[in-house]
Amino acid sequence: MAIETDVAILGAGPVGLFSVFELGLLDLKAEIVDILDRPGGQCTELYPEKPIYDIPGLPVVNGQELTDRLLDQIKPFQPGFHFNQMASGLHRLDDGRWKLSTDSGTELIAPVVVIAAGAGSFVPKRPPLAGIDAFEGTSVHYAVRKIDAFRGKNILIAGGGDSALDWTINLAPVASSLTLVHHRNGFRAAQHSVNRMRELAAEGKIAFHVAGVKALHGSGGRLEAVTLSGADKQEWRHACDCFLPFFGLTIKLGPIAEFGLNLHENLVPVDTARFESATAGIFAIGDICTYPGKLKLILCGFHEAALMAQAAFHICRPNEKLRFQYTTSSTSLQKKLGVA
Ligand SMILES: Cc1cc2nc3c(=O)[nH]c(=O)nc-3n(C[C@H](O)[C@H](O)[C@H](O)COP(=O)(O)OP(=O)(O)OC[C@H]3O[C@@H](n4cnc5c(N)ncnc54)[C@H](O)[C@@H]3O)c2cc1C
Repeated sequence: MAIETDVAILGAGPVGLFSVFELGLLDLKAEIVDILDRPGGQCTELYPEKPIYDIPGLPVVNGQELTDRLLDQIKPFQPGFHFNQMASGLHRLDDGRWKLSTDSGTELIAPVVVIAAGAGSFVPKRPPLAGIDAFEGTSVHYAVRKIDAFRGKNILIAGGGDSALDWTINLAPVASSLTLVHHRNGFRAAQHSVNRMRELAAEGKIAFHVAGVKALHGSGGRLEAVTLSGADKQEWRHACDCFLPFFGLTIKLGPIAEFGLNLHENLVPVDTARFESATAGIFAIGDICTYPGKLKLILCGFHEAALMAQAAFHICRPNEKLRFQYTTSSTSLQKKLGVA
């Protein structure tokens, strides 16, 4: 699916989100891609409940709340979100625009691409099970993209965090059977999710075992059973056709390394007037960019987004004049924000 837009943003962390606002004030439309299933980047993935004390004007705000506030702030500009997708290719088209493509087949075509990729993409930790790659994408999944794809399946979920518990609760109604395994009878997930999971187990709607997965069995990419090992080291075979390991995420730079961006220590060098990389039309802001004096702080990323947007305007609207305006006094900006 090809979508034409003004600006394609890679990364829905705080800086990618705020850039939608700065671009929107200049009437530039944005589409955002993220490998995660929700916005917020490091803020929501690594520290949703930790207080942040250095966001200007917000003496204390946690990672989730900051993300929610940014989403609220960019609402008037209705960006297109493309979650659960790895941005995997960047190519220049004959007409000078860029095509940012994802591993799900989405193609964003825009004169400007903004890399707001932080430390790189969050990728799932794979369990060290022999032959697991043969089942990946068919019977082994690290994310749930469509609940309906799991309807009527015999599902095995492994893990003890929020993803494992949330998907146990959400997939239980559509599964033919669902078993959760975790190596201990304690969880790192929200207490209300743990309580709900235990209720479902008590009602016989799911099964829960303190156990680990030792081996996968099946052929042609189709899983038939796994070997489970209990707390007493006793092993048994468990029939299932679908395995969802939720063992957390790790950060890897990923495909950006192949985008030809002249990386320096895995960061994109930019100029500090425009935040453009050495390649015209490709900008980098937030933790992924580097320049003398760069600080990996959210507030610095917000400043970078503002300057990037001004430069992006001249690329997207070469024949229009850009007038500097304040949101406090410009009726035209206030109209865009829906407050005038
Ligand atoms: C524990 C902790 C505490 C922190 N506390 C503070 C603090 O108090 N104050 C402060 O200012 N900063 C703090 N930081 C740093 C702050 O979180 C980062 O500066 C900020 O998140 C950077 O935002 P970003 O949008 O540039 O990148 P990120 O938040 O890293 O978001 C980048 C997004 O890009 C996505 N992505 C990357 N590559 C791809 C790809 N190829 N395809 C699809 N998606 C991709 C990632 O999945 C991610 O969602 C803290 C960081 C940590 C880890």
